[in-house]
Amino acid sequence: MPELPEVEITARLIGAALMGAEVESVLTPGINALRSFDPPLTAIEGTTVTGVGRRGKLFVIDFDDRLHMLIHLMSAGRLQLFDTRASLRDRTSRLLLRLVDGRELRLREFGTKQAAWVKLLTADGLAAEETLATLGPEAYPDPPLLRPLLDAPRPLHALLRDQRVIAGIGRSWVDEILHGAKLSPFKRGSELSDEEAERLCDAIVEQLGRALAHYEEHIELPIPDKLPMPLRIHRRNGEPCPRCGTEIEAVFYEDYVMCYCPTCQTDGKVLKDRRLSRLLK
Ligand SMILES: [Zn+2]
Repeated sequence: MPELPEVEITARLIGAALMGAEVESVLTPGINALRSFDPPLTAIEGTTVTGVGRRGKLFVIDFDDRLHMLIHLMSAGRLQLFDTRASLRDRTSRLLLRLVDGRELRLREFGTKQAAWVKLLTADGLAAEETLATLGPEAYPDPPLLRPLLDAPRPLHALLRDQRVIAGIGRSWVDEILHGAKLSPFKRGSELSDEEAERLCDAIVEQLGRALAHYEEHIELPIPDKLPMPLRIHRRNGEPCPRCGTEIEAVFYEDYVMCYCPTCQTDGKVLKDRRLSRLLK
C-alpha cells in the first residue's frame, strides 16, 4: 500500500527522469481509470512535462505548467517509468503515457480491485479539486503542531490515517509511528498531553524520514512492483519488539491489521479482540 514515503520516492525519481520530456500520446487500456472528461486526455499530446509532485498520497504531474494530471494509486497501484513500451495485453496497465523519446510512464494496478484513478485538470480545476481541497496538512517533512489537529475523541490509529486530519499516513506507517512515539493506537487524540503530542510529531518525522532515506539508498528506476518497505512493527506480529523484545501483537480487522508492542505502547495490555477495538473507534 503506497503511503507518503512510497509516493514521495516515486515522484522524486520519476520527476528527475521525466522533466522536459515531450508527450506523444496517452492511452487508457482496459478498465478506464480516467475520472475526468474536460479537458480531454489528448490535450496533453505535444506538451512537455514540467513537474512531478506529491500531495498526501497523490501524484500531480504538470504539463506545460497549465495542465495537471492527478493520480491516486489507491491500495495497489504503481507509477513506473520504463524505457520501452508495454504490450497492450498487460492487464495491470491503467494509463500509458508515451513519450516522444520512446519511454513510457505507466500507471499499473495489482490485485483484484480496480480502484486507482486519474484526472486531467486545468489549473482552475486543480485548485477546485475536492480530493486535494479536503486534505489535511502534510505529515512530512514539517508536520504541524498536532495538539489542536488531533483534538478529537477518536483513537490515534484512526486519526492519523484520516487524510482530512493529516495527509500521507496509512495503515503501514501508522504502526511504526505510534510505536516510535510509545503511544497506544487506542489512545484518543483528545487525551494527548502536550508532551505526548510532541513525541508523536517527532515520531512522524523520524519514521517517514527513515523510510525515505531507505528508499533513496535502495530504489532506482524502474520503480519495482513491490517496494522494499523497511517496516519493523507493521505485520511483524509474533516477532520481538526491536526496542524491548516483547512479542509484537496484532488486532485483525476485515481488510487490515494493526500491530503494536504491549510493553512499549499499552502498559502491557494485549488488545486482541476486534469487537473491543470497534467499540473504541
Ligand atoms: Zn517494545
